[in-house]
Amino acid sequence: MSENIISYDPSNGNKLGEVTAATVTDIEKAVNNAKAAALHWKCISHEDRLQAIQRAYSAAEPIVANLAELLSKEMGKDIRRSTSEVQGSIWGGPYIAKSCLDAFASKESGESTLEYVPLGIAAIISPWNYPLAMANNLIIPALMAGNSVIWKPSEETPLIAQAFFDTIHQGFPENLLQIVHGAGEQGRMLVESNINIIGFTGSQATGKDIMARAATSLKRLVMELGGNDPLIVMSDANIKAAARFAVASSFENAGQMCISTERIYVDQAVAHEFEQQVISAASQYRVGPWNMEGVNIGPIINKTQHEKIVNHIKDAVEQDARLLLGSTDNPERYIPPTVLAGMTPEMRVEQEETFGPVVCISSFTTIEEAIERANNTSYGLGAVVYGGRDARRVAAQLEAGMIGVNQGVGGGGDVPWVGAKQSGFGFHGSPEGHRQFAQVRVVSR
Ligand code: NAD
Repeated sequence: MSENIISYDPSNGNKLGEVTAATVTDIEKAVNNAKAAALHWKCISHEDRLQAIQRAYSAAEPIVANLAELLSKEMGKDIRRSTSEVQGSIWGGPYIAKSCLDAFASKESGESTLEYVPLGIAAIISPWNYPLAMANNLIIPALMAGNSVIWKPSEETPLIAQAFFDTIHQGFPENLLQIVHGAGEQGRMLVESNINIIGFTGSQATGKDIMARAATSLKRLVMELGGNDPLIVMSDANIKAAARFAVASSFENAGQMCISTERIYVDQAVAHEFEQQVISAASQYRVGPWNMEGVNIGPIINKTQHEKIVNHIKDAVEQDARLLLGSTDNPERYIPPTVLAGMTPEMRVEQEETFGPVVCISSFTTIEEAIERANNTSYGLGAVVYGGRDARRVAAQLEAGMIGVNQGVGGGGDVPWVGAKQSGFGFHGSPEGHRQFAQVRVVSR
């Protein structure tokens, strides 16, 4: 019996639309269709796959504005950010595909040839915070490796996923790219179905569940998981620049970003100045619905997530954190810019991913203490250091897959998107990342 997944506007709770959740039979059917579609796709050249992706993605170019508006309505981010995500995804599809050409080219080694051949069917399971970009990053290398793809987007953002899918999938051979809807239940069914690789972006908890279920048949995994990114501000840092970065990175996408700055450790010699600069920068932010002029912090995606953020703020204040901006009494659906100081390692904001527009500042007396606290979590996605001469030495001691020195993480170029510790298992981007969607085969003569 099919159920409907209802999509709500997070800014007011109004129903936006609905999609049908996949049943076990739907998923079995999708898997059979994907198997048939892969038969031809796996035999064509990488150049032909690239051309198909270019053709498919170009169909979305004329409707950027429509897609961006739907993305804003369904996810809550402002129209500038939605437009940038839609454009980035349309541009990014062919761009990532092109960068796969070298990665998947066969290589000679002695008497052997190394080939990168398809694994079969890739299940791509994506989150709601960047509903198109996160899916794209996994769908494209999976297709370029010669796999067929079944995409299960988040139950929070099914409409934008369906609209994007409807636009691009006709450029591909029938059933090469399919979409199935649902929440955790459908995700689990897909993971346990007869697919060969799972490309997942989402929370640590879901990643662990997927890994356990995938273990029974040793399915390949590429998992980009949650973060709890630290920022260390040294005494010789450019304090104004560090504060601006801290605020922008904590508030981006209403804090609902895997590489948001979640914890800040600032040298006590400059802590007061840093706090003042943070308050000044944070006070400039405006909270509200996506279509209100000047808004740069949208609503929180749902009630559960809102409650979690509120509870993290309350927990910190109950344990004597100083509330420098914001309130423990937040309006429904929104969290206005919030700044906390005096954090301790026991607080929930320190150990868990808050995923909201909250700046959390601690001061330190020795750099060793800052490094220890920065590393004292199971997460290891990104980490940033602002400082002078010694900043690179400090950065080298941080346990994260992506590190920024006097800038955010993830530079230009074809570098991977990669988490350390429990923030990732496998990664994407760069030739090494792309190759995780293929089977390496050695042919010796
Ligand atoms: P989530 O783990 O709740 O859900 C992600 C997807 O998994 C959704 O499609 C959901 O329906 C599906 N799902 C849920 N339970 C499942 C199960 N047991 N088996 C299979 N699929 C299941 O995450 P979310 O709330 O959608 O996204 C936010 C999280 O994603 C945050 O932790 C954030 O840091 C992380 N994230 C990480 C990156 C990265 O690149 N590392 C990027 C974006 C988001």
